[in-house]
Amino acid sequence: MGNISHNIFNSEERSCWFKVVHDIHPTKDRLMSINKSVTENCESCGNVDTILHRITVCQGKKSMWHLLRKMLAVCLQKPEDRLTPDIVIQPDLKVKGKNTLLAMWLVGVTVNVIIGEVIESLERYKIGVINRFNKVTCKWFEKITMNKILKLLLA
Ligand SMILES: [Zn+2]
Repeated sequence: MGNISHNIFNSEERSCWFKVVHDIHPTKDRLMSINKSVTENCESCGNVDTILHRITVCQGKKSMWHLLRKMLAVCLQKPEDRLTPDIVIQPDLKVKGKNTLLAMWLVGVTVNVIIGEVIESLERYKIGVINRFNKVTCKWFEKITMNKILKLLLA
């Protein structure tokens, strides 16, 4: 899989995504399984609180996941419906080219923005990713593809 320890990530993103991939983030579902919570249900919506629920389903997250999926489709040149939410927890991206690396970066940054910064709205999500993009110093991505991604983020 794509390497979470890659230097395109900052340390916060690396540790956040690591917890997500290894399912050690304290969701209600996980806390209940170790008797640290009396409920497995999400505080916001009442459905079972799993990591995928938090990132791709709960409330405003659906629109964030749809935007991420659009961006990944551009990078990976795959139809959107072939990209399932598990890409977030099982980032099975064979990192070969700059575009695959960009896809991995988008997933890692998204996970940190949504889970680490507890973002609730699509607008805040877009701003979070754009802010992070502005901090990227070395240009390891393909400019043409990144411009397509930015267009989606600024839409
Ligand atoms: Zn929820």
